[in-house]
Amino acid sequence: QSMDHRYHIVMLPFMAHGHLTPFLALATQIINRSKFSITIADTPLNVRYLRSTITDHNPHITFAELPFSGPENTENLPPSKIVDLLHSSRNLEQPFRRLLCDITAKEGRPPLCVISDWFFGWASDVAKSIGTFNFTFATGGAYGTLASISMWLHLPHQCTDSAEFAIPGFPERCRFLRSQLNPQVREADGSDPWSRFMLPQISLSLKSHGPPSLSKRSGKEVGLFLEKYLEWLDKQRPESVVYVSFGSQNTIGASRMMKLARGLEKSGKPFVWVVRPPLGFDVKGEFRSEWLPEGFEERMRKTKQGLIVRNWAPQLEILSHKSTAVFLSHCGWNSIMESLSWGVPIVAWPLAAEQAYNSKILSEEMGVSLELTGGNESSVGEDEVKKMVDLEMDGNGKGGKMRTEAFVIKEQIGDAIRMEGQLKGSSVKALDDFFGFVLTRTEELSKSNLF
Ligand code: UDP
Repeated sequence: QSMDHRYHIVMLPFMAHGHLTPFLALATQIINRSKFSITIADTPLNVRYLRSTITDHNPHITFAELPFSGPENTENLPPSKIVDLLHSSRNLEQPFRRLLCDITAKEGRPPLCVISDWFFGWASDVAKSIGTFNFTFATGGAYGTLASISMWLHLPHQCTDSAEFAIPGFPERCRFLRSQLNPQVREADGSDPWSRFMLPQISLSLKSHGPPSLSKRSGKEVGLFLEKYLEWLDKQRPESVVYVSFGSQNTIGASRMMKLARGLEKSGKPFVWVVRPPLGFDVKGEFRSEWLPEGFEERMRKTKQGLIVRNWAPQLEILSHKSTAVFLSHCGWNSIMESLSWGVPIVAWPLAAEQAYNSKILSEEMGVSLELTGGNESSVGEDEVKKMVDLEMDGNGKGGKMRTEAFVIKEQIGDAIRMEGQLKGSSVKALDDFFGFVLTRTEELSKSNLF
């Protein structure tokens, strides 16, 4: 089959790291298994980022830059500005429509389907108007995404005076506290800016069928960048290191940062900590030593207890290293999947988006995590940090049990992809079945001239 006759799939991820990476992974999975061609459309900055992350370029994955003015990615934006980006992302509609029309004109038929982010519910109308299917891809986990959707649609915490509430559609036993919610949904009343964005996008999505700085690094720099970590990790005992990171766009408040630092130091355990300027400071600005306890960095350098990294670390390499024991994480879904794929249990510190729900399923349903604290208003003491690290590191107690559970999940994740050494796991099969269905429907519809 020549490239021209390949069915074309167009993808539209939201402009944030945690969305771009899973879209690219999905595109790669699809291309590896089928004779489609894929265009991933996004703003120029994000396209540059995506291109820079591809090591093994597949000619059937191409990128389209959608013109966009204003900040192009949530990374480095303070939380208060993210809602503006969400609203302005609606301006992508016209360039996206033009892209679909151009592809249709060039190829003589519309793309097979559009796979768009659940933040871009409007893409389903655009897809429909050019005569193709639209599928929504939610880049979070099923539990967290559905909990988020139900929260935005029902705002159950606003309808009760009780401190605890359940999420409609979820088991009654899964109780949440208001304080565990991210501030956006906690304060939402249905007419605030966040609700005004989320509600229509969710409703439209439900109707559908069914770091820039890194990009500037050369291969050589990435190599050197990695070496430093690997050298440090290689010197540690197996399963002894705590890895601490709050993802690509979140950070914690200044006083919590101090307590976390003191707690880690008190624990005496080796750690790698990706530090970012605390809340309220320019995330792109200089990191100031005064945000950490006096002499902290110096002591860590001398004793070699901790490797403190500014802004960004090669997370997968750290999680996959045999010395890494525990991940203190904000519970972004990518981080969770990466951690569990390597059998690393989690200390949860959820901060934003659907992370509180992710933390719930990890601790209460899967038994691979304990929640240290949640949200940005909650308090946490240095002794609590130390206690939690000790607990998770204790191979004979709870920690050992969590590690065993995490290992079981690691195996399950592997089985979802490979069965008997071949790419035949349940996830791969689900993807094959899905595209089998789309192709059959497309052929039926084109025969009946409904397109
Ligand atoms: N990440 C990384 N190094 C860092 C911080 C983040 O490589 O210092 C990557 C991480 O491996 C993950 C993604 O950025 O793939 C973060 O996605 P996640 O869903 O965990 O959180 P978000 O950043 O969307 O809140």
